[in-house]
Amino acid sequence: MGETIFNGIGASPGIVIGRAYLLDRRKVVVAEQPRVSDATAKDEVARFKRAIESARLQLDDVRKRVTKDLGKAHRHILDTHIMLLEDKMLVEGTIKRIREEKLRAEAGLAETVAAIGLKFDAMEDEYLRERKHDVEQVAERVLRNLMGRKQESLADIREEAIIIAHDLAPSDTLLMRKEKVLGFATDVGSRTSHTAIVARSLGIPAAAGLEKITASVRTGDVVILDGNHGTVIVDPDEETFLDYLRRKQRYKYFEQELDKLKDLPAETPDGHRIHLQGNIELPEEVATVAKHGGTGIGLYRTEFLFLNRQHLPTEEQHYVAYRDVVERSAPHEVVIRTLDVGGDKVGLPGHGEQEPNPALGLRAIRFCLQNRDIFRTQLRGIFRASAHGKVKILYPMISGLTELQEIKRVMGEVRAELRAEGVPFDERIEIGVMIEIPSAAMTADLLAKEADFFSIGTNDLIQYTLAIDRTNEHVAFMYEPLEPAVLRLLQRVSHAAHEGRIGLAMCGEMAGDPLYAAILMGLGFQYLSMNVAAIPWVKKVVRSVRMQDAVELADLVMRQPTAALARQAAESFMHQRFPDLMAEM
Ligand code: PEP
Ligand code: MG
Repeated sequence: MGETIFNGIGASPGIVIGRAYLLDRRKVVVAEQPRVSDATAKDEVARFKRAIESARLQLDDVRKRVTKDLGKAHRHILDTHIMLLEDKMLVEGTIKRIREEKLRAEAGLAETVAAIGLKFDAMEDEYLRERKHDVEQVAERVLRNLMGRKQESLADIREEAIIIAHDLAPSDTLLMRKEKVLGFATDVGSRTSHTAIVARSLGIPAAAGLEKITASVRTGDVVILDGNHGTVIVDPDEETFLDYLRRKQRYKYFEQELDKLKDLPAETPDGHRIHLQGNIELPEEVATVAKHGGTGIGLYRTEFLFLNRQHLPTEEQHYVAYRDVVERSAPHEVVIRTLDVGGDKVGLPGHGEQEPNPALGLRAIRFCLQNRDIFRTQLRGIFRASAHGKVKILYPMISGLTELQEIKRVMGEVRAELRAEGVPFDERIEIGVMIEIPSAAMTADLLAKEADFFSIGTNDLIQYTLAIDRTNEHVAFMYEPLEPAVLRLLQRVSHAAHEGRIGLAMCGEMAGDPLYAAILMGLGFQYLSMNVAAIPWVKKVVRSVRMQDAVELADLVMRQPTAALARQAAESFMHQRFPDLMAEM
């Protein structure tokens, strides 16, 4: 049989070749069983309770042994699982089923989990969908205990291997023997799933969303995992094998070269400083920014805080999370973006109405201005955190000056409240406007008079400028940062920022692609914020290109009448100067 190629999502960069280790996370199948007698049902309840207790001991043990370098931040997920072992719906629900329906413990549990799943499905809420997943993972552990099945763990791996699994639970990744795990490949998951985040923070290559890879791989198979592109090749042909061996060596060498830049400043040879910062969603990602040589957080997306709670976060919860990030990032700054829900982002607990055209709907700042309590609570949390380090506030989806003025009024009220309460905060906190709607780009000169900095969100700016739904794969091919219309808007915003003497940043994906780095420098961007893995690559470009050359390149690219010609100009510049880097992209 020849090689089989699986294409998924690149969840953590790097290339590895090794033997597969299929982690058995298939669902334990509970066969139908005859009903039991009253007396036996009692025994079954006792057996179920013992299995729960064993699960608790097992998870406690995991908790104790959690590898230090993962830190306490990941432990709360484990705590959630431990708490689920006391969950009423799960535990009492199962006991009730065993007693009333005279079921064996396994069947009682399986039926309860299925019923809970149906409830969650009906709620159609991302947060709850994730909870369903947690319940299933915990129940699986209890089922295995009931059936006397081994709890297979990544701690047991003896040989180096690439882990192939349907999904990986936090208890898997937290316990793994890091030195033995070459990479992860999972059927499900995305770039923002927990496993992906852990993989990136440990520098382990990973691919997710491979759909049915577990059905085609057996332990011991030779596997190539390319975490840059999300590709996994099972039983590679000799030619593919040699090709990837070369790619792997080249990539490794290149990474080592990039690593040498880590502690060097992102400064052009003629002395212009560009601030390279990280985009984060979770506090635990802070460490990875410094590790990749970034200076501060240019975009802290705060949606996560809202999605992982059953209720809206309290002011204290906002404050604690932001303070944590701010303290861990010191002495560097943290740009905290206020809530951006709606559009392709999920709804909030209690605010999940479907809109016919969500990308053009009640999203981000529009939502916040209509839900003042939620907005003010978040603002108070951010202000309070500003007493602990350098904080800037960034507002998403601003469409024009009226909104900005309204926000500033609310900020004024919140400031007055805090002052009256004697709560300390940074009186000079900077206000940033995300430029991601064409109307904001067109009126950037007006906005510049009332803001301290701009941060361009190209993910949305491109979507709205070119009328391309960013979530629709059918038009994804049209998603092009080098479209003349997009470039002209960037130039216009840059001009307004410089005229108004305010800061200019970019935090959309465009900022993290080394192909565009010199163009953006030439267009006058002082801050580029990106996914952390991209920082060394962009730094390489910054440290090699003189500002004068960057300005000339930007001019040349701006003059091109089509995106294709602009791309040609950019690529030819990069091929001449960075043949190695281009080969890796
Ligand atoms: C953007 O739109 O470019 C951006 C950075 O924000 P998000 O991707 O969160 O919408
Ligand atoms: Mg955006």
